[in-house]
Amino acid sequence: MVGRMTDTTPAGLAVVGHWIGGVLTAPEGARTGPVYDPAHGTVERYVSLADAATVDAAVQAARAAFPAWRDLPLSRRMPIMARLRDLLTERIDDLAASISREHGKLPDDAAGEIRRGLEAVELACAAPVMLKGECSEQVADGVDVFSLRQPLGVCVGITPFNFPAMVPLWMFPIALACGNAFVLKPSERDPSTALLLAEACHDAGVPAGVFNVVQGDRVAVDALLDHPDVAAVSFVGSTPVARHVYTRGAAAGKRVQALGGAKNHMVVLPDADLGAAADAAVSAAFGSTGQRCMAVSVAVAVGAAADPLVREIAARVAQLRTGAASDAAADVGPLSSPDARDRVVAYVERGIAAGAELVADGRGVEVPGCEDGFFVGPTVFDRVEPGMPIYDDEVFGPLLSVTRVATVDDALELVRANRYGNGVALFTRDGGAARRFQREVEAGMVGINVPIPVPVGFYSFGGWGDSLFGDTHVYGPEGFHFYTRGKVVTTRWPDAGSGGGGVHLAFPEG
Ligand code: NAD
Repeated sequence: MVGRMTDTTPAGLAVVGHWIGGVLTAPEGARTGPVYDPAHGTVERYVSLADAATVDAAVQAARAAFPAWRDLPLSRRMPIMARLRDLLTERIDDLAASISREHGKLPDDAAGEIRRGLEAVELACAAPVMLKGECSEQVADGVDVFSLRQPLGVCVGITPFNFPAMVPLWMFPIALACGNAFVLKPSERDPSTALLLAEACHDAGVPAGVFNVVQGDRVAVDALLDHPDVAAVSFVGSTPVARHVYTRGAAAGKRVQALGGAKNHMVVLPDADLGAAADAAVSAAFGSTGQRCMAVSVAVAVGAAADPLVREIAARVAQLRTGAASDAAADVGPLSSPDARDRVVAYVERGIAAGAELVADGRGVEVPGCEDGFFVGPTVFDRVEPGMPIYDDEVFGPLLSVTRVATVDDALELVRANRYGNGVALFTRDGGAARRFQREVEAGMVGINVPIPVPVGFYSFGGWGDSLFGDTHVYGPEGFHFYTRGKVVTTRWPDAGSGGGGVHLAFPEG
């Protein structure tokens, strides 16, 4: 078993360490950051924050482990991936408890993110099919051609706090299945789940050094981006950091995919089942306390849909209970940090100041026994317009804006004009309107009567606009593409004794 903590601070709190080359470590004297219990507002442990030397140790461990892992036959690599899948499935409860402890996510939601992450692990088990190349016979006289996809070397994953299991699982299982070694840099806000993933890798038979975890903040990120032995970087997080990671990583010659923030619109046409649309809007806005990159943050009510939709949403929000992950009746958990709570409250105040109509106010929500927790209850604004901060910015909390427009064209224009393009949804009973919408709307992931259209594991995930820098989406077929590079082999096997056919300096043709 991989230990989960390494050391204690003077205050007696554990320090969450790094997993490097099969060893758990937290260098003495290193910087640390607090890890909160978001429901109670207390510091439960600290996380070691890697410096450049610790990052280098992780990259060197991965680099040393890469050749043997790359050369391990698929017939032996794949059973390890399958065991990883089985162990993660067996350990869902432990993983979910770890997520709830540090992120604050409610247990069902935490288990749900692991199940969605497992889809990518299942796809990783199909690597022998996904990595098959192509072959063309007799392209010239006696000449055959075939293509290969080969691993890159050391790949890095830098992940956000809001999905401490699912987002890493989007990345490293496929990278490993392709024959790469990996260094994961999880969010410093909820660092422990990454070590449980490392433990599962270890127990599944992934050799030491093939999967590593460095804990840290921007110092570790920049050290990874600058490191000459890192071949590729997958990033998921906010847009400013995604842009930074893409720019700096690409300047250092690395392959980079950097997924950023979002502002997801859910368009509701007057012909939709408005009860079902309200259910969907409330679920997608307030699930995970609005801390999902695919959360619906703007409900766009078209024409006569507006009044009844706002009424139906308000009625549902009034029934929601805000509470800790330990409260089985809770619907909405805490935000992840004091900063996140203060940020959402500030946006509510800015929404009021901008003239939006406050329909439900989650400020000051009371959660008995959790008075110091980072709670904001579900908040709804009506008559929100572009130019208001609550419309323009990603709030990343339990705040739903309703924007009223006259026509579906207005709705399409609203989505097009927004700088993000992650997910979008349409609710309607009109197939023709839906078909036009799905063709014309500018976003990478579209749901028709589906509020959170996160693609299943065998498709790929990614947005448009400021929601993605780089051209390759994560997991699915594009994941295999990202973690491999192509090679084309042209062969001629002349019969023995047939000679070379003489010297020809002209450009070779068939
Ligand atoms: P974040 O950008 O603050 O952090 C993401 C990662 O970057 C973390 O590992 C963090 O340590 C590191 N980091 C933070 N600041 C940095 C800096 N200045 N320089 C270098 N590295 C830095 O994001 P977060 O708050 O952890 O996560 C929430 C954000 O992630 C939201 O914007 C959300 O929309 C986005 N997100 C996007 C997707 C997607 O698929 N598009 C999925 C999940 C989350």
